[in-house]
Amino acid sequence: MTFEQIKNDENKYMMHTYGRFETALVSGKGAVAKDVEGKEYVDFTSGIGVNCLGYCDEGWVKAVSEQAAVIQHMSNLYYSPLQTELSQKLCELTGLDKVFLCNSGAEANECAIKIARKYSYDKYGEGRQRIVTLVNSFHGRTVTTLAATGQDVFHNFFFPFTEGFAYAKANDFDDLKLHIDDSVCAVFVELVQGEGGVMPLDKEFVDAVVSLCREKDILFMVDEVQTGISRTGAVYCYQNYGIKPDVITSAKGLGGGVPIGACLCTNKLADVMTAGTHGTTFGGNPIACAAAKEVLSRVTSKEFLDEVKKKGDYFREKLMKMSNVKRVTGMGMMIGIETEKDNAKEIAQKCVANGLLILTAKNMLRLLPPLNITYEEIDKGLAILKNIMEA
Ligand SMILES: *Cc1c(COP(=O)(O)O)cnc(C)c1O
Repeated sequence: MTFEQIKNDENKYMMHTYGRFETALVSGKGAVAKDVEGKEYVDFTSGIGVNCLGYCDEGWVKAVSEQAAVIQHMSNLYYSPLQTELSQKLCELTGLDKVFLCNSGAEANECAIKIARKYSYDKYGEGRQRIVTLVNSFHGRTVTTLAATGQDVFHNFFFPFTEGFAYAKANDFDDLKLHIDDSVCAVFVELVQGEGGVMPLDKEFVDAVVSLCREKDILFMVDEVQTGISRTGAVYCYQNYGIKPDVITSAKGLGGGVPIGACLCTNKLADVMTAGTHGTTFGGNPIACAAAKEVLSRVTSKEFLDEVKKKGDYFREKLMKMSNVKRVTGMGMMIGIETEKDNAKEIAQKCVANGLLILTAKNMLRLLPPLNITYEEIDKGLAILKNIMEA
């Protein structure tokens, strides 16, 4: 098949939900992807922060393929040692106490939203259901997580949206306080806004929000779907802030390339969700759990986290010297680049044409490279980017 055939068939048989780059990927190894015509690309995207060990990592392939040959699925009506092992590992890594396993970021966030509302309903009764999220946030594509997303462009067409969300300005505690009253049960934030433009929250802002939440028994919940799994130099980004959320959500990098999500809560919330209040057919699937166990065993040591920080610094240092770079944002290997010429989309398209996969977020270029990318691969990708930025 040629690229043109694939593109025609996509147009003919698929809903037009994506503005796709001009390439069809068919294989990959490490941080290098190959398209249908045999052309290679250095990959600074990891499939939007998913392939944290790169393409087809040996240990990951072994974990997934061996599990597929043992038991590929059973229903959540039965106990699963893989689910309990993965959940124990997640609790040990985070200091949180209870896990719900699901299949995606949006689903993990739905679980968090349900926990917040039911905790408050159980304890205070009706009327305390509002959740404050941040302007420019992104929390998913279901009708409720779209409503949670603090961007007007997502609040169209699909009316009526789920009620009960309010949007406060990021890094503006006075504005956030204006949204806090007796109807609020939770504050829900990304610590580095991903889709919103790779924008980290200030520590002072986060500290102030956390203590306000503590004072009023409002849950502090962190969407770690993009920032989690060692992306920012800590296993979960909240660990960089020295805080402990009541709830965190995880997905993207958790399975290293298979669909899995998780919602974690502390013991205070351990009994909020009961049999019959939540569930999923696929969540905690054995193959996904085996993949996630392998990922966590590989990316969470202190040495690995130090290396993520080092590589993030290396990227920053090189990027700051490039022409057309106005500002470099983010944390660890979650990197945003504001361009002088405000031409991020155009740069990203040119990169693909020249053998480099790169993302955008709002007006920013965005890099989410595989966490185990080599310095050689980094240099190769940055050389391509440099040429295009200079042109
Ligand atoms: C990607 C993302 C989501 C949605 O995850 P899906 O797996 O696509 O449902 C939610 N929150 C954040 C912060 C994300 O980056």
